[in-house]
Amino acid sequence: MLGAIEAGGTKFVCAVGDVSGQIIEQVTIPTTIPEETMTAVIDFFKQYELEAIGIGSFGPIDVDTESPTYGYITSTPKTAWKNYPLVQAIKEAFPVPVGFNTDVNAAALGEAAFGAAKGLDSCLYITVGTGIGAGAVVQGKLVQGLSHPEMGHILVRRHPQDSYTGKCPYHKDCLEGLAAGPAIEERWGEKGFHLVNRPEVWDLEGYYIAQALMQYILILSPKKIILGGGVMKQETIFASINKYLAELVNEYVALPELTDYIVSPGLGDRAGITGSLMLASLALQEDDQQ
Ligand code: ADP
Ligand code: ZN
Repeated sequence: MLGAIEAGGTKFVCAVGDVSGQIIEQVTIPTTIPEETMTAVIDFFKQYELEAIGIGSFGPIDVDTESPTYGYITSTPKTAWKNYPLVQAIKEAFPVPVGFNTDVNAAALGEAAFGAAKGLDSCLYITVGTGIGAGAVVQGKLVQGLSHPEMGHILVRRHPQDSYTGKCPYHKDCLEGLAAGPAIEERWGEKGFHLVNRPEVWDLEGYYIAQALMQYILILSPKKIILGGGVMKQETIFASINKYLAELVNEYVALPELTDYIVSPGLGDRAGITGSLMLASLALQEDDQQ
């Protein structure tokens, strides 16, 4: 049996399941302080005989296995979790292989294995929620360099009529600063789900996301683009993205039909936890090879 943790800023989803992505049992634990949250996480997993555990975490996180702070959540604004050794805490309680990556990388892995990109060796998973993040599977593997990619913070061209300053504490008007849920709320003065009948809100959202997709497509050439997260519950954004993206690409690269190419998660809300199960499965395979 495998364990999986989807570690988020508001909740930790913990599950046990198998290599086929089947989830057998699942619980949700609120993200408070590490002492409290992690005790509950460990208590849940103690009920099972686990072979490996996979963690898909909010971040930024340290994924460099050579680094002294590997396994840490690093510069999060959630102060109680800043520099928290998440992998070490799990390893201390469970002496099994532990896989560790970002929540969006885990979701990309889950979608490539069992979701909207099933059967493909390449996909991009993007969440547009409290923040914007993206994970990429390229040639069957997660992209990793110095660290994990941070595709939510790329720079985009501002809409000529948009005077909103931007909400990213690091860059102000990067993609996340202009288009994540809190930016929508601050710009328009209301939470996203109260703005359903304001087409200009979702048109502008598509305007920014399309620019980001254009850049991801040019750089990574993903075979499928999956957009999840709370904000994407506004389905009209997809039409806006497709309109602006077609204009931007201007037939320079050949793309599949956009309505097939840019889609919602096939696994719905289970993308992250299923992918975390895959991270456990990969950690187990690597351990067997050593
Ligand atoms: P998180 O990113 O924290 O994991 P979500 O993906 O649910 O969580 O994103 C939360 C953000 O999405 C909030 O800013 C919220 O206002 C926004 N949001 C949630 N539901 C909707 C909706 N139906 N329409 C528009 N925005 C939404
Ligand atoms: Zn930023």
